[in-house]
Amino acid sequence: MSGSRLWKALSVIWCDVRNFVRTRVGDGMTTEFWRDSWIVGIDPLIAYVLERLVASLEYVSVAAMTDGNGNWLWHKFEHLLPLNIHLRIAAAGCPMVGFAADAECWKGIVQGNFTVKSAYIIRCGPTVPDDGKLWKTLNKYRGLQRIKIFLWLVCLERVMTNSERVRRHISDNAGCSLCGALIEYVNHLLRWCSQAIGIWTSLIKPDFLHQFLTMNIKEWVYLNITDAARMANHPEDWDLLFGSICWNLWLERNAVVFDNPLDDRGTVLERSRRLQQQYLLASSSAAPSRTWERRNGAAGSSNNDVQRLLAEGWFQANADAGCRLADGSAKCGGVIRSHDGRWVQGVAKFIGICSVLEAELWGAFTILHAAWGLGITRIVIELDCLEAVRMIKLASLPPGSPTILFHLRELLSRPWCVEVFHIDREKNRLAHDLAKLASGPSLCPIYFLYPPVPNYYSEYAITIG
Ligand SMILES: [Zn+2]
Repeated sequence: MSGSRLWKALSVIWCDVRNFVRTRVGDGMTTEFWRDSWIVGIDPLIAYVLERLVASLEYVSVAAMTDGNGNWLWHKFEHLLPLNIHLRIAAAGCPMVGFAADAECWKGIVQGNFTVKSAYIIRCGPTVPDDGKLWKTLNKYRGLQRIKIFLWLVCLERVMTNSERVRRHISDNAGCSLCGALIEYVNHLLRWCSQAIGIWTSLIKPDFLHQFLTMNIKEWVYLNITDAARMANHPEDWDLLFGSICWNLWLERNAVVFDNPLDDRGTVLERSRRLQQQYLLASSSAAPSRTWERRNGAAGSSNNDVQRLLAEGWFQANADAGCRLADGSAKCGGVIRSHDGRWVQGVAKFIGICSVLEAELWGAFTILHAAWGLGITRIVIELDCLEAVRMIKLASLPPGSPTILFHLRELLSRPWCVEVFHIDREKNRLAHDLAKLASGPSLCPIYFLYPPVPNYYSEYAITIG
């Protein structure tokens, strides 16, 4: 038999490869609704069916489950699938007559083209633990530099506690000098040692105390400098107080171990509160000049950074989207303003469950759809997701394009002028805040004829010039 080595090799592992191929749905005519893998991130729908499928339904196409105009015929399949799968179907975008034919693509990445890296990851799983978020968050920690570095050492478990000294062969006593515990780990020092536990008990909500004391140390640091409201009795500026307490526990311990009493005789908590207050005082006296710069900038020529200078008759749209990490549920929102910055309409929509990229495309679609409905003929749209902007502008669609991109391109091909731009996230705050107003389970967009953001005119003043 003739043929290249590549194809011979592929034929041997074809069954494996087959598992990692998915269908990209365009018009939905050739994709099987139940048996093909056509929604990113989940198995073929047949895997989730709640009861037996009737024979007449078993081999239907995706198109057969729609009305041909881009609407799902929910009554045909809704009762057969659980809610979380409904949300995925909703977010996958509905095929429509006239879209490109369905095609096969690679499952590994959203764009659908094959890469060796993605093949390796789906075969072996990600190899590096995802600590990137922790380090980035720590890097942005607003407290004192030495506390930031200390927290970093805590996460790496490289603080020079007695157990670490023993590990490095510079001591033979691993015990805690404060409470006599057998081993002084960093975890013991900061959470379980007698004085630490007393402080945390007075500051953490009783319901969360057990979780607070037992969670993984990296998670512990991460959560306390990002999401204080969950655990602390008084969440205001908890990130600062938390860091200060950790730092002062360490200073206190060193004062005892090296018999070198601190000048400040207050308790650890008193000293930590003082440090927190001093930090806040110092940063608030620095703040006014920053606000002034912003206002000054707004009044001056840099105004068009945010609101592009548009000719009369043009409109500006901004869209943004976000996915909740916990369950992948996605929301999008956006705003349409006139050329001189006046509010025209806002929109927020709950999408379902999908990737961030799909959600961003939904955002652009939703706001442009609203603009078309208003009879607007010239519009500039700004998104803060570079990948989404790139995908919208591509001359030909990548193999794995999500179906929502077909809808978006159909919309763009209508007789009107639409310009798509990328902007910084910071300048897209209004759209971001609008997206947050969406809530499930209804998938219908909510339209805002007036600014729903309470202090729109002061908060976003620079955007309306
Ligand atoms: Zn101890």
